[in-house]
Amino acid sequence: MQNLSKIYLKRLVDWTSAEKINEALADLWQKMSEEAPQIKKDEFMAIKLSFGEEETSGYIKSEWLASLLKLLKEKTENLFFVETNTLYREKRSNSVGHLYVASAHGYDIKTTGIPVIIADGLKGREGQYVPIRGIHFENVKIAKTFCEIDSMVCLSHVTGHMQSGFAGALKNLGMGCASRAGKLLQHSRTLPEISIEKCTGCGACMKICPSNAIGLKKKKGILVKERCIGCGECTVACEAGAIEIKYDENVVKFQEKMVEYALGAKKAIGPKITYINFLYNMTKNCDCMSKNEPSMTPDIGLIGGFNPVIVDKASMDIIGVDVFEQAHPGIDPMVQILHAEKINLGATQYELTEV
Ligand code: SF4
Ligand code: SF4
Repeated sequence: MQNLSKIYLKRLVDWTSAEKINEALADLWQKMSEEAPQIKKDEFMAIKLSFGEEETSGYIKSEWLASLLKLLKEKTENLFFVETNTLYREKRSNSVGHLYVASAHGYDIKTTGIPVIIADGLKGREGQYVPIRGIHFENVKIAKTFCEIDSMVCLSHVTGHMQSGFAGALKNLGMGCASRAGKLLQHSRTLPEISIEKCTGCGACMKICPSNAIGLKKKKGILVKERCIGCGECTVACEAGAIEIKYDENVVKFQEKMVEYALGAKKAIGPKITYINFLYNMTKNCDCMSKNEPSMTPDIGLIGGFNPVIVDKASMDIIGVDVFEQAHPGIDPMVQILHAEKINLGATQYELTEV
């Protein structure tokens, strides 16, 4: 019989109490630590998560992590939070603005007792090539800090996503550990279309576009196709619903490229990575959006494991993959799981234990 990867589920329906969330996380971690990689006191361990966009509240809160931080601090003296700069032009697109947002959301040394490091430097340019020999990339450009650490805990808030359908551990690893150039290469060529009839000329798309690919002509948004990198940020920024991405084979390629970057990040860091997915406040779009959205489905709890593919696959299975398909018609979120299996990032069969 095939050896199944173990995965752990801690159910949690009440996300209003930080105490209960801390308890749930500590229970899950204790159970997982029976199999967790051994860490030496002087090793560098990063906790990778998103600090959320400036005006949003859906991100993983720092006060939920106190119990986990206590357990991790017993393992290593060199513990820190890590994140990379964003591609789009909000405050988190450079390290200075990013650290301000992180601090405003409770992520600084005074609040948590551990520092925050932005892995790709001041402007997102500090990356290192990692060979992967994938289908789309021979090498991927991973933010430099990930090439220097010894172990990582990858905390991912599960949401939908306008280009991958589903965002969890694979996206946190693939997009979240790439340098700015690496993020650009994953996004290329998924072009949006602007409806002149629906456009109100508000300019929100121009403001958010990272590559100046939208202008206004006669008070209507127009796309400069040659400049567009297909990041999809404008589709979410447009409140009039005037911008849509044409879902075709490019959306499949986006997921496949993201997963190849996840493989590169895993290769750069090494085998000591633990993954925990937070299945709460599962919104249509990810925490990079500068607006709050309602949850698509009831909160479930925490899923932990040692392989990003099964952590995401189990998350989709428990939530229901149809939730993501309905939120983003035309995008099959299973593409990322199947491509990850194909490039040997991890198996998709698992044995689930409830903690
Ligand atoms: S998809 Fe293109 S036009 Fe839209 S924000 Fe991204 S780069 Fe700009
Ligand atoms: S955000 Fe939408 S409505 Fe506003 S200018 Fe851009 S396309 Fe037009």
